[in-house]
Amino acid sequence: MPAHFWLSKEAIPLTLDELSLLSEDQARRFLAEMRWGCADKQVCPDCGVVDSHYDIRTRKQWRCKHCSHTFSVTTNTPFADHKISYRKLAMAIFAFVINQKGLAALTLRRIIGGHYRTSFTLLHKIREAVMLTVSTEKMNGVIEIDGGHFSGKKRKGRKKKESTPADKNQVPAKYSNQHRSKVGASAFPFHPNRRIVIVLREMFGEAGKGASRTVVAVCKSENAADVQALVKQWVNERSTIHSDELPAYGNLKLMGFVHEAVNHSEEFSRDDGVNENQAESFFSRMRRSCFGIYHRITPKYMLDYACEMAWREDMRRKNTKHQMRSLFQRVCSAGVSSDWFNYSHGHRRMAEIMFQAPLSSAT
Ligand SMILES: [Zn+2]
Repeated sequence: MPAHFWLSKEAIPLTLDELSLLSEDQARRFLAEMRWGCADKQVCPDCGVVDSHYDIRTRKQWRCKHCSHTFSVTTNTPFADHKISYRKLAMAIFAFVINQKGLAALTLRRIIGGHYRTSFTLLHKIREAVMLTVSTEKMNGVIEIDGGHFSGKKRKGRKKKESTPADKNQVPAKYSNQHRSKVGASAFPFHPNRRIVIVLREMFGEAGKGASRTVVAVCKSENAADVQALVKQWVNERSTIHSDELPAYGNLKLMGFVHEAVNHSEEFSRDDGVNENQAESFFSRMRRSCFGIYHRITPKYMLDYACEMAWREDMRRKNTKHQMRSLFQRVCSAGVSSDWFNYSHGHRRMAEIMFQAPLSSAT
């Protein structure tokens, strides 16, 4: 019987212990290899020339042979002007990728030390960069789509209400205002912080391999307008879409897609294999991160967290070094952070981000 991937030797080519023993120069070279994919060549961020540029070891920088621009491994990235050492930065990225359900800032602080705010902004810079660098390529083949409710739970009262005999036949209060069939898309009976994360997952061509790519968006309700805008943006025509039987997905056939729906009140998977279990799998991971790690995700930053979980789902079968390289290259390509640069000086994100493309419910 083949062993699970994460039990194999290939899954962990690198450990935190090895990273913690690196000297500052070794850590800088390690990050440079992660970013540019090569140990002895660098890409000048000014003129873009790939070469073995002059190494100024005392300044931990390189000087371009062609335009004399001086740069470091974190120039033009969210980590520009970082105060922590390269060794700690490498350890932080490693800690981020090995925690499958997310990493709390207080946990990271226990690993790299320093102030809580350093870990807090570092993790948010990573999340923001992952959110900003989502591929715009459209999906093909079989795509599963579903929506999940997150955040904004109503608090329970201090005292229990005494039930009268008439109440016994009624739907319990905790379910009555969440029952979808009784709630129109326009009515919004939830807590104002409640949001719907809609996920689209593209399947591997081979059956049983699961999903290969995940895209997420945040909406105020699971309504037809948002679903159609999302599908139009992310899915190629003539693809097959699997969903549940919610009316929001009712028009997909008219839009030119092959639409198959599963009746969740009867079954999780149809006899012919139609299901949306990979979308549920994403929600499973995201829900565990909400309950177990982050506890409270506000709407303003929900897309960042959802994109983090989407990245974790897509990278779930890659080894730790591959995950680190993928994350570091993606984060570096995002440029200097607009929302988290100068956070400690009072700079804040002003608006809630639902998705980069305008959706009908975006505010
Ligand atoms: Zn240059």
